[in-house]
Amino acid sequence: MSDIKKLVSSCVICDKQLESAMPTLQDETYSNQPYGAVMCSSSGNYGSTVFDPVMGGQVELVFNICDECLVKKKGLFLLCERVYQRPKFEYKGFDPDTFDW
Ligand SMILES: [Zn+2]
Repeated sequence: MSDIKKLVSSCVICDKQLESAMPTLQDETYSNQPYGAVMCSSSGNYGSTVFDPVMGGQVELVFNICDECLVKKKGLFLLCERVYQRPKFEYKGFDPDTFDW
């Protein structure tokens, strides 16, 4: 195994060159996982005049932000928590004569 650290994309804010968090991993799928940084992705959105793919989330724009910039520039970021709700069921009487299918 080699201990040579693979380079990954640099920080999008300060341009610092980042190293891989898994330098010995051979699988190129994980080659952009940075050490001391977070990997961010965007599937684009309506409103962007640059990146709004209509491929249903199959393509993502990927970039890294170093931990230092996450702290220094914390006012730039929003934390989004997704809330998943259990489905609600409504029950009512069944009448085959009026059931519409
Ligand atoms: Zn940075």
